[in-house]
Amino acid sequence: MELSVVIPIYNEEANIGELHRRLTALLAPMALPGGYELIFVNDGSRDRSLPLLLELSERDPAHVRYLSFSRNFGHQIAVTAGLDRAEGAAVVIIDADLQDPPELIPALYAKLHEGYEVVYARRRSRQGESAAKRFTAKAFYRILRAMTHVEIPVDTGDFRIISRKVVLALRQMPEQNKFLRGQISWIGYRQTFLEYDRAERAGGVTGYTYSKMLRFALDGITAFSDVPLKVATVGGFAVSGVAFLVMLYTLYSRFFTHQYEPGWPSLMVSILFLGGVQLIAVGVIGEYLARLGANVRQRPLYIVSEGNLPAPAPGTTGA
Ligand code: UDP
Ligand code: MG
Repeated sequence: MELSVVIPIYNEEANIGELHRRLTALLAPMALPGGYELIFVNDGSRDRSLPLLLELSERDPAHVRYLSFSRNFGHQIAVTAGLDRAEGAAVVIIDADLQDPPELIPALYAKLHEGYEVVYARRRSRQGESAAKRFTAKAFYRILRAMTHVEIPVDTGDFRIISRKVVLALRQMPEQNKFLRGQISWIGYRQTFLEYDRAERAGGVTGYTYSKMLRFALDGITAFSDVPLKVATVGGFAVSGVAFLVMLYTLYSRFFTHQYEPGWPSLMVSILFLGGVQLIAVGVIGEYLARLGANVRQRPLYIVSEGNLPAPAPGTTGA
């Protein structure tokens, strides 16, 4: 198998047909030695995505592989399940909503053969997304970059082509809180990028709610940076230092100048302030601890309910 395309699917009934048409129109003429496969991973869709995939696999059995989860496990996990089963010498990860233009795949593929292991697609512009989404995404990538030593490219989604070497390396990373673009950067090798203009979603609505985006952002930060923990520690010391000075001053006024008010405002302010700082610090620690817990539990990353793919090779992350 020369090329695998991994496509996560969550409520994409409006796009599956068109996506398959465009991918086929592109990949068939490339006459890849060993052929190509399209791996659709249905991530617990509530619409007609699954029956559509079944139909596709009957119409195009040589290329369409599909896999269905028992529920919605999330975009990153869906992609991981596809990677666990991909057989291609090169693997493309692409969104189903045609925001990532399939037409870029031949260029990505050609670039990979210039001696790279990863060619990611960087968004030059984004269309049809709210100002709030664009702003939060932009801010997130920059904050993450400032907080980690791993060079995670900014303004880049998961749309990319990776070589088999990288796929095998990813299969050895069984972490529960997936942040694939970070993991792929972490793996190293020669990586490069191509630029493209991100289109509007072809049909349907985004599956990324704000709560999913927040969880994704926290997964990325906790997996690739300890800075928040350090901020909590350093902040705790700083606040304690100030509190100690104020305490000295209070004792001084009480016993030496005898000028003091039995004042509750200062008391309230310091209690509230310290309470806040402590809660934040505990919360930050909790974020890390929760993820530690998830990894210790060692649950499978996802549960497959059906599909036309064999179980993955041992050593992969899923069930
Ligand atoms: N997706 C998924 N599970 C989810 C949410 C999204 O598999 O819980 C898929 C979705 O079908 C699409 C890709 O992940 O192929 C990107 O999602 P979406 O387009 O909704 O995100 P956005 O482009 O708005 O960030
Ligand atoms: Mg999208």
